[in-house]
Amino acid sequence: MSQKTLLCVVAHPDDETFGAGGTLIHAVSEGAKVVTVCATRGEAGEIMDRANATPETLAAVRELEYRKAGHIMGVSESILLGYRDSGMAGTPENELPNAFIQQSEEQVVADLIEVMERVRPDVVLTMDEGGGYGHPDHIFASACAVKAFEQLQTDGATRGWALKKLYFFAFPRSRMRAAWERMAAEQPDNPMAQIDVETLGVPDEQITLTVDFPQHEEQLREAFAAHLSQESPLDRMPDETAAEFLRSASYIRAYPQPAVAGDETGLFDGID
Ligand SMILES: [Zn+2]
Repeated sequence: MSQKTLLCVVAHPDDETFGAGGTLIHAVSEGAKVVTVCATRGEAGEIMDRANATPETLAAVRELEYRKAGHIMGVSESILLGYRDSGMAGTPENELPNAFIQQSEEQVVADLIEVMERVRPDVVLTMDEGGGYGHPDHIFASACAVKAFEQLQTDGATRGWALKKLYFFAFPRSRMRAAWERMAAEQPDNPMAQIDVETLGVPDEQITLTVDFPQHEEQLREAFAAHLSQESPLDRMPDETAAEFLRSASYIRAYPQPAVAGDETGLFDGID
């Protein structure tokens, strides 16, 4: 059995930790090599008071947070593509010429193919097609990751390696609903609280794989804490939802199909 490689493709520094951190830690603990690739430096993000950051330094601060969290999780390489964070849907930053979502899909797909050809992952993990809560960078990163995966699949036979599986993050709508109801009650002015709950995450019944990692909770909390400039998703959740969030994560297998809930127990099932 050779070492398995997992590549996680995200949009902002913290998506890899908040979105898949427990799964990444778990994969490392099972002997896999884990690499993350992040499209932007997150410069349009919020700045929490506890962070020693200004709008001018936020990109550099978040880059360091990304690398620190990667180190805590045992990630072998934390790659940044260096595009500009496009900001939340509908904000003026969406329109900046260097914003991630203004780049050509062809360019970003080419970047991701270059990373994949070098890293040679067995499994690719990316954000869900709806971006979790509709963030345009999440949606674009996911779409580009899928395109890159498909292109390499199509002409992969002669390469001596092959991408074997593709997964989407799948935040169960039941958990998202619990988190959002609390946020709406506590922070009614938070723009995120205005998002329709029925568009959040994915319907629970679409989930095909749940990865449990209760043994890594402390390490995961440490990785979360590395993203000092950002609000932790845990702060938005009722305690029991946060406890679940720290102990398991759900995914939808996009390739190979068909995927049925419970047809496998881990990301690397069926890969020699
Ligand atoms: Zn994000």
